[in-house]
Amino acid sequence: MFDGDEKKGLCSVCGERIASVHTEAMPGTEIYICESCLELAKHNFIWICMSCGRSYFRPKSTVLERLTDPELLRAYEACADMQLIQGIDMCIECDPECVVEHVAGAKKERIAGSC
Ligand SMILES: [Zn+2]
Ligand SMILES: [Zn+2]
Repeated sequence: MFDGDEKKGLCSVCGERIASVHTEAMPGTEIYICESCLELAKHNFIWICMSCGRSYFRPKSTVLERLTDPELLRAYEACADMQLIQGIDMCIECDPECVVEHVAGAKKERIAGSC
């Protein structure tokens, strides 16, 4: 959920700038996002590893091109116009074997914009 209250923190995506908004990447897990990462999210899907804190950007067009699973493709296409930042339990650094499943199963949250 988009939330514009007073809470401020360092951006969870780049870890460099002060975040302007925060959102729930997963139920109960709040992350902070700065203006420039929010801007990046317009053209990239962003995943944040809840385990190590690394963030991953992939251009939306590339992600959609590579998806072969029709259900996943539909789900991501529906999010293509949103600023989507997903929390994942583990990333490829933490658990190379499982990352695909985690990404596929992660709950999608939109943080701004409309459907
Ligand atoms: Zn940032
Ligand atoms: Zn990780």
